[in-house]
Amino acid sequence: AKSSGRQTFSFYSQDMTTLARQRVKLEAELRQALEQNQLRVYYQPIHRLDDGRMLGAEALVRWQHPERGLVPPGEFIPMAEDSGLIGAIDAWVLEQACLQMCQWLQQGAQLEFVAVNVSSRLFSRGELDLRVARVLAQTGLDPARLELEVTESAVMDDPDRALELLQHLRSLGVRLAIDDFGTGYSSLARLKRLPVDKLKLDQSFVRGLPNDAEDAAIARAVITLGQSLGLRVLAEGIEQEEQAVFLRELGCTLGQGYWFGRPQPAEQLLATAASAL
Ligand code: C2E
Ligand code: CA
Ligand code: CA
Ligand code: CA
Repeated sequence: AKSSGRQTFSFYSQDMTTLARQRVKLEAELRQALEQNQLRVYYQPIHRLDDGRMLGAEALVRWQHPERGLVPPGEFIPMAEDSGLIGAIDAWVLEQACLQMCQWLQQGAQLEFVAVNVSSRLFSRGELDLRVARVLAQTGLDPARLELEVTESAVMDDPDRALELLQHLRSLGVRLAIDDFGTGYSSLARLKRLPVDKLKLDQSFVRGLPNDAEDAAIARAVITLGQSLGLRVLAEGIEQEEQAVFLRELGCTLGQGYWFGRPQPAEQLLATAASAL
């Protein structure tokens, strides 16, 4: 037993060393990526479910890696959060999205808002409202055209703190959305007090629609909840027309997903969504 214990130990320690090395390498590469402009912002359209019009877009970061190609955020955002690089990444995405929105508006696009994700790591730190205020001042974007997305779990981790932060952000005039809603155990009493405009129904509950009875029950409950709190509800991950129709019939007003359009470079977004111009 003793020797196998030792074996197990050495196996894990070797494995950990490899993992740790890979991590250090990736982290150094990501640092470089920021300096060398390898990050890209893609935009996914957000549509109204009644007439199908494009109302806005969500900014989603990608990493144009010199060897690995276009790397999705799931492969580097968690590491960026652990290493502290997330602050610089989110600040950069925020600035790019605000500049892009200004440009779209100058071109005459009828877009209501651009949405930007805020990492839970940043959300729990104080300087977020200052940073947002600075970017708005620098870019000149009307604050009402910027929507910040904070995940439900980030909010419910420390609800009192979240309430205070959201109130600060709200006082800047930006819109606020709760992302991945339905996955984070919100207390309804708390939700009622939050100064937010929108709930984004998590795509895990949209996937099984219209046939999955549980998904349908959850979607219906979230839409009803949003309506009774005076919030707009956006369904994420809509891939099929039947899902859009089903959600619209439940009273959901906004949708996002491959059915309407994939995340894409800024230049392509308006070209594909002719109704936005
Ligand atoms: P999210 O904020 O929930 O973004 C939605 C994700 O769902 C995006 O993945 C999007 O491409 C994907 N998606 C959209 N429509 C569909 C669909 O119809 N079907 C399916 N299967 N997927 C769909 P993406 O771009 O890979 O981003 C993953 C996550 O990475 C985001 O989830 C967000 O949490 C995070 N992320 C992305 N950009 C940023 C950023 O700039 N800052 C921070 N902190 N996080 C980001
Ligand atoms: Ca989001
Ligand atoms: Ca989401
Ligand atoms: Ca199910």
